[in-house]
Amino acid sequence: MDKEFMALAIGQAKKSDEPLKCGVVIVKNAEILAQAHNSQRADKDASAHAEINAIRLAGKRLDSKNLEGCDVFCTCEPCVMCMAALSYAKVKRIVFGASLDKVSPPKKLISIALDTFLEKAPHKPSILRNFMEEECSRINEQGSRRSALEHLRT
Ligand SMILES: [Zn+2]
Repeated sequence: MDKEFMALAIGQAKKSDEPLKCGVVIVKNAEILAQAHNSQRADKDASAHAEINAIRLAGKRLDSKNLEGCDVFCTCEPCVMCMAALSYAKVKRIVFGASLDKVSPPKKLISIALDTFLEKAPHKPSILRNFMEEECSRINEQGSRRSALEHLRT
């Protein structure tokens, strides 16, 4: 099942128009609650990362801010903003594909190691790292080059 859900997240990522494309699927008891991709530019919203968009959809679907018992499939490792939101939402498990430092230019990251974050977080989801890493990294092979070039220009 994990593979099927991650494949859906990859499909979502491909719908993104952002330089770094991410997709997320949130599942509870094998039922898909939300599928989303990042949309910062389209929505003119710096917080419109795939995880945040998916948390909003799943919350509406469950009619609750509490996403206890949910599994979250992310094509990219969640950034600190998204990790904080996922922790506040009390999700059960996070499965991610590509590590953030491999897909994003280092100067664009708020670099706090995942383990350091988890030590401090009140709610600690279990994490499965680098699941289907190759497929998830492939989405951004072009995108990250473009994003790196953008970074050089700015
Ligand atoms: Zn994020």
